[in-house]
Amino acid sequence: MELVDGEVKMEVPIGSDAVLVKNLYLSCDPYMRGRMREFLNSYIPPFVPGSVIEGYGVSRVVASNNPNFEVGDLVSGLTGWEEYCLIQKTESLKKIQVEDMPLSFHVGLLGMPGLTAYAGFYEVCSPHKGEYVFVSAASGAVGQLVGQLAKLHGCYVVGSAGTKEKVDLLKNKLGFDEAFNYKEESDLNVALKRYFPQGIDIYFDNVGGRMLDAALLNMRLHGRIAVCGVISQKGTFDVEGIKNIFALISKRVRMQGFLQSDYLHLFPQFLSFIIDHYKKGKIVYIEDMHEGLESAPAALVGLFSGKNVGKQVVCISPD
Ligand code: NDP
Repeated sequence: MELVDGEVKMEVPIGSDAVLVKNLYLSCDPYMRGRMREFLNSYIPPFVPGSVIEGYGVSRVVASNNPNFEVGDLVSGLTGWEEYCLIQKTESLKKIQVEDMPLSFHVGLLGMPGLTAYAGFYEVCSPHKGEYVFVSAASGAVGQLVGQLAKLHGCYVVGSAGTKEKVDLLKNKLGFDEAFNYKEESDLNVALKRYFPQGIDIYFDNVGGRMLDAALLNMRLHGRIAVCGVISQKGTFDVEGIKNIFALISKRVRMQGFLQSDYLHLFPQFLSFIIDHYKKGKIVYIEDMHEGLESAPAALVGLFSGKNVGKQVVCISPD
């Protein structure tokens, strides 16, 4: 990635319905790594080398010919990793109507990762009160909300994360019943047996790889595995060492991959549920905020070694 200076024309070309925005917050998301290479079976096209990186952001409209957006509107959606961006494809842009929540939450708790947690947990995991739930990458943008939703649903919830600081957050701030540092475990199967002596009903899988293989061995009869992401597989998308698929048959487990974009119809109900619970203090959300466009590449790369503590956001300008 390269940081380039350029001039901004503070206007929208005549005849175009693009909008010119000033970016306030940019989101770093693991799927962006997948856009940095050709991958035939991907659900999203690769970035074009030499062009501006695209990602979710929160922005303020500074010029518009588009009837749906006025100067001054706050919007969230896909934007460029720049201070000002002329957005040609405005389909993903949503006007931000919620005034009393942190603006950066619109790329986290109230945005794509939040919807992923909400749809993944309620729609894919088919949860029941009292069930045993395991979440990997549990302190991240998606995982921290999944765990809290599972607790609100009356489940027993254990999370895994890669540092002691994250484990402490899971137990002391995010309300998980238990948490462990997977990097300190020589045998993940043994670790899961320690935390789930009775087995796992729901595994919300953010990482794939070795953890998925160990979880397979610990699933209960008619358990569910929501395959949300495979970040441990280092961008190869190979099924690294998955040996225990037979457990799906013997335990009649349902394993389902999903994309949050299939659940956009749930967005209004998701938003009102989360805002209501956040305002009542029943949900908290941890962000890891970096400052300035120049810090964005390192913030993105940091996701893949677990440097982020909570949702990784880059503040370009607070207003
Ligand atoms: P996070 O905020 O959780 O950040 C990524 C985290 O992954 C890191 O902090 C790190 O936490 C963990 N991680 C990195 N490398 C490894 C590894 N080798 N093994 C285990 N854990 C690792 O990201 P998100 O919450 O935004 O995303 C979580 C997952 O959900 C990702 O796989 C992502 O691709 C997926 N996703 C899927 C969506 C969908 O629609 N299906 C939508 C959004 C996200 P730690 O320190 O704990 O290792």
